[in-house]
Amino acid sequence: MNRVYNFSPGPSMLPDAVLEKARDSLLNWNNTGMSVMEISHRGKDFAAVAQSFEGRLRRLLAIPENYRVLYLSGGATGQFAAVALNLGRPGKHAEYLISGQWGKKAVAEAAQFTDVRTVADTFAQLRAPVAEDINLSGEASYVHYTHNETIIGVEYQTVPETGAVPLVGDFSSTLLSRPVPISRYGAIYACTQKNIGAAGTAVVIVREDLIKDKPKAVPSIFDWTVQDGQQSMYNTPATFNWYLSELVLEWIEDQGGLEVMAEHNQAKASALYDYIDDSQWYRNPIDKQSRSWMNVPFTLPDDSLDARFLGEAEQAGLANLKGHRSIGGMRASIYNSMPMAGVQALIDFMRDFAQRNG
Ligand code: PMP
Repeated sequence: MNRVYNFSPGPSMLPDAVLEKARDSLLNWNNTGMSVMEISHRGKDFAAVAQSFEGRLRRLLAIPENYRVLYLSGGATGQFAAVALNLGRPGKHAEYLISGQWGKKAVAEAAQFTDVRTVADTFAQLRAPVAEDINLSGEASYVHYTHNETIIGVEYQTVPETGAVPLVGDFSSTLLSRPVPISRYGAIYACTQKNIGAAGTAVVIVREDLIKDKPKAVPSIFDWTVQDGQQSMYNTPATFNWYLSELVLEWIEDQGGLEVMAEHNQAKASALYDYIDDSQWYRNPIDKQSRSWMNVPFTLPDDSLDARFLGEAEQAGLANLKGHRSIGGMRASIYNSMPMAGVQALIDFMRDFAQRNG
């Protein structure tokens, strides 16, 4: 069966080269006579995978020495709780900026474990907060925001300024799409099923002074101090995911790194937004300063055309364009693995569909 252009928001498209390499190594990986799933996470073969993953991530993101890298189970949702448990402090509150559904979910989860205050909320305006929207006390244990809101396609183009208070970013649907100034952050985390591999796991990058003193009882698999001390192997880690992520990072390095990814991603997003705006038939409602490079939602003039659009797109090899159930319409997720040819095929299809139905 032919591969299609998969516009899913996650789990999302992986590079063919990664899938082929994983397939070819299934029965006899690294001359072990076993697959990577069948070997001990404590053996030297897997240790090499974990080390290579961390080395590549450090190179790609230019992660400073004083930051730790963790590879944990439980996805980004697990980290909604882990952030509050590891960085919340007794007698202090945490501050959250909201620009969409995922930020709200992060607040609801964190509020179970620490005192949470929302200090900006621009969700209804379909844009990311700017300095004037944000009301920081300067006394929070940390400030949390969602760098890219996957459902509505709202992405920050700058880093919020929080002074001495550690900034924590949910980078689930944007990490590895472009360079990130890591030293501006206390911690960032991302689920792996968009730009980093398969679902069910998360990458955490945290400044080491923030996890020196274990704050209180934290479930061990979510305890950043414990997991850091055990090289993310306090529990048996998701070895196949980790291996796949290592292959994805190798692929990104082969492409030329994050500057090159950023150029590709910006070019893809611009082509699609420009077509949508020029068409005067399709519409993207997001503030132009906050439009996501990764997730591009759009509507047709009449939602009674949606089912036909999706059916014909599927026939044309353009899969998973249905928008999130909470907002309807369409959404094209165009992560690192989506080639420009896929975006061009989508634009050609959209143009043809508009001509036939407009
Ligand atoms: N945050 C953001 C921005 C996301 O896009 C997602 C998943 N789509 C999550 C958090 C939750 O990730 P997971 O389902 O892996 O827990």
